[in-house]
Amino acid sequence: MYVIFMGAQGSGKGTQAERIGPKLKLVKVATGDLFRSAIAQQSELGLKVQSIIESGNLVPDELTNAIVQVRLAQIAANRLKDDDVDGALFDGFPRTEAQARALDDILASQDTKLDAVIEIDVPREKLIARLAGRRTCEACGAVYHVESDPPKVEGICDKCGGKLIQREDDKPDSIARRLALYDNQTRPLLDYYRAKGILITINGDQDIDTVTADILNALGQA
Ligand code: AMP
Repeated sequence: MYVIFMGAQGSGKGTQAERIGPKLKLVKVATGDLFRSAIAQQSELGLKVQSIIESGNLVPDELTNAIVQVRLAQIAANRLKDDDVDGALFDGFPRTEAQARALDDILASQDTKLDAVIEIDVPREKLIARLAGRRTCEACGAVYHVESDPPKVEGICDKCGGKLIQREDDKPDSIARRLALYDNQTRPLLDYYRAKGILITINGDQDIDTVTADILNALGQA
């Protein structure tokens, strides 16, 4: 199964992908995570994308599509030899129509296609509050929220003891730019997938377990 989770930054799609991926044996393909790990390693790609990401702008389509193509080739190979891999779940990709078309082409070249696109819908004012309070572990990437999901010790990751930071792109200026980019570039993709008959909208303004249950239900996996 190949599924996209769509929703503005702060909609909870990353959290839901973490929960649902393992349940359905889908490997999470989160382009933001792939870029952040390239930056941490200071690889050639990381050096190219660091300033773009910190400013909250989008990485060019060619770089983004290339990284996804490599990841999907690995997943296709694992799917053949590993019972625990049954497809992919996209989080934060595609974000532009060019990326959506590239994804269709990559999957077609592997004789497969998208099964569903889940839109997680959350009112704008809630998104802003969620993003501004988000803290991320510098070491392992775990995500917390200062009010709704604080760590046991302020500033320290429960899972690995790493330092919690506010991502550069979770600061107010970047948040505004990222939400505007979502409206202008990514939201129109909903029509693209609606026209294909594979778009399902879920109410993301509910507690985390209910959203998970609604998604599993929508995918026929409850
Ligand atoms: P995210 O963790 O999904 O919010 O992504 C963090 C940042 O990585 C974004 O603000 C972009 O700068 C970059 N990025 C992630 N995914 C994409 C994508 N599909 N296309 C372009 N840029 C992306």
